[in-house]
Amino acid sequence: MKNDRNICILGSTGSIGKQTLETILTYGGFKVRSLAAKSSIDLLEEQIRAFKPESVCVYDEDKASELKSRVADTDVRILSGMEGLIRLASDPDNDLVVTALVGMIGIRPTIAAIEAGCDVALANKETLVTAGHLIMPMLAEKGVRLFPIDSEHSAIFQCLQGYMGPDGSYPYNADIDSILLTASGGPFRGMSYDELKTKTATDALKHPNWSMGSKITIDSASMVNKALEVMEARWLFGVEPDRIRILIQPKSIIHSAVQFKDGSIIAQMGLPDMKLPIRYALYYPLRQPEHGRMLDLLELTGLEFDKPDYETFRGLKLGLDAIRQGGSICTVFNAANEYAVARFLEGKIGFTDIYDIIGECMKRHVNIASPSLEDILRTEEEAYANAKEYCKQL
Ligand code: MG
Repeated sequence: MKNDRNICILGSTGSIGKQTLETILTYGGFKVRSLAAKSSIDLLEEQIRAFKPESVCVYDEDKASELKSRVADTDVRILSGMEGLIRLASDPDNDLVVTALVGMIGIRPTIAAIEAGCDVALANKETLVTAGHLIMPMLAEKGVRLFPIDSEHSAIFQCLQGYMGPDGSYPYNADIDSILLTASGGPFRGMSYDELKTKTATDALKHPNWSMGSKITIDSASMVNKALEVMEARWLFGVEPDRIRILIQPKSIIHSAVQFKDGSIIAQMGLPDMKLPIRYALYYPLRQPEHGRMLDLLELTGLEFDKPDYETFRGLKLGLDAIRQGGSICTVFNAANEYAVARFLEGKIGFTDIYDIIGECMKRHVNIASPSLEDILRTEEEAYANAKEYCKQL
């Protein structure tokens, strides 16, 4: 097994992390060197016993010490906190770091992996949303390749084969007319704003096509997710935001497409299953066989397209405003949403309050055009504080 590559999976107990481990079990080729999670130590313990990593980090300090005593019979080294995440991410023996942590805690470990010169399979949206202007030059400088795990970005990445330069950037993208970023529209597609107001977390967690973690499922229902994906795509593929078009495609069969300047559209299609983008990111440029059901075009009926409803899904409009302004306001958009979604999941606020909180935090922010990492982290704290204060009035 000498050819196995060392993999570090940050966020191994979440939806993407679990599916990454399942993928490795099925297709092999990797030695699980390290794992990290925020606090789910029950599952982490199972993963330690199954995959025998050298090191594991639990972000939550108390949970870390609890896990340490539980796995005292093994050789695993248990780390904790942000420091632990960064240590795992910057291990020089890693060949690939999967960053699937949810939220802004994923930014610094992702940067640490890139600085260590390690290829990254990225599922943490916040990294590019808040720090894309810092990350992209860093990738080129370190010769690090970034493989998107998000289904839309994986689709665009697949459509652009032959367009990626040896350093992972897109020097040949002058041929692109526009990126067609598809969206299912989520469970509330076609509803009015008044209907949205009454929606609970249980309603919002029923995504019609995709099975994902709770944060991203709420973001899909509010369509905030799609704004975050435009932010990611602009950096990842070096395309101006006004050339990224959101296309509603309710069945989630076309995962995104690229229209070239000669009018040709290349789209990536498949069943809605995150395993495909995970496999593509892990084994690029090779494709691994699908052992389950595959997309059968003969079974496909009514592949419809529509424009997004920016009036009802106000979060999308706010997100596009943030994208047009650029700079630290994108961090505000993300952090305010992160705070609001957590409160919504706890049943403390209503669904459309998410939009109000984001809008209010954006209004209060003095934009920084090209924020440093410190500016970004400070902006995050500011947005959290503003969101918290505003929530008290609701
Ligand atoms: Mg997506």
